Amino acid sequence: MRALIYDGQAPRIDPQYDDPSPRGGEALIRPTLVGVCSTDLEICKGYMNYRGVLGHEFVGVVEALADDCPPRYRKLVGQRVVGGINCVCGKCDMCAGGLSTHCRRRTVLGIDGHDGCFAERFTLPAVNLIEVPDHVDDDRAVFTEPVAAALQARKQLHVEGTPYITVLGDGRLGLLVAQVMAKLNASVRVIGKHERKLALCEKWAIKHRLTSDITARADQDVVVDCTGSAEGLKAAMAMVRPRGKIILKTTVADQSGVDLSPLTINEIELIGSRCGSMADGLTAIATDEVDVISLITKRVKFTDAPKALPLAADPDHIKVLIEMD
Ligand SMILES: [Zn+2]
Ligand SMILES: [Zn+2]
Repeated sequence: MRALIYDGQAPRIDPQYDDPSPRGGEALIRPTLVGVCSTDLEICKGYMNYRGVLGHEFVGVVEALADDCPPRYRKLVGQRVVGGINCVCGKCDMCAGGLSTHCRRRTVLGIDGHDGCFAERFTLPAVNLIEVPDHVDDDRAVFTEPVAAALQARKQLHVEGTPYITVLGDGRLGLLVAQVMAKLNASVRVIGKHERKLALCEKWAIKHRLTSDITARADQDVVVDCTGSAEGLKAAMAMVRPRGKIILKTTVADQSGVDLSPLTINEIELIGSRCGSMADGLTAIATDEVDVISLITKRVKFTDAPKALPLAADPDHIKVLIEMD
């Protein structure tokens, strides 16, 4: 089959990648639409030292199940699904403690030890899959994973009063995080570098400013770093008030060289935030809690998939989708 792989050199289509076969409770999925995420771009710069098929954001159709799948999953065959990206053991201390996204033996779709979804077929544990309701089309369903990740930032925040929240970064994730934070009893603003992207905030009645127009005043209760750059944490430390919180959504392959002393001096709480509940993500999309359609700026065919990564890195674009043919 054809697959978009990263082999340590540059992303390329392998026309003869081995066909996956589902085993150990897995389903075989034919993706119909997939999304490019900043994590994919980081992987191509060395993040996680990953080699294999790229991609973890998908909507697709279940084609088959491993023989050992419990009967309750049979109904998934032929269904349109999205799925959680963490493949977990179910037995370790993290899994037993209800923190299976932190499973000690996990593999992660297209990120760590498990071939991703930028291919004609891929596998995921059947238990990870969620059926997509008919009224949620592929264009919206494909955002389930990033919306879940945005919601996770909100879930990790225990707000009191009416906090001032700054979302740093006007990219894919920043614009989703801003939308979910705006549902809180909070004053939310987005700080970014791109006028065209920030203009989307108007539509959602969210305040926004250009990075060049603001002075960091150490007065924000919460700063969420969605910049995807090592500069983000530095900027967040300058903006957050003493005893405030920084939520770090950025995964950059290299954070070295950042002076962390403000965390100690100002007693700042730094919260790392990764994956969220796929069910919550799909519900937020299905109930129109978030506008994802406005984020789609480019679609490419799978034959042109290697071009999708540089396009996703281009500041003129927000979400780049790859249509599987
Ligand atoms: Zn992602
Ligand atoms: Zn485990």
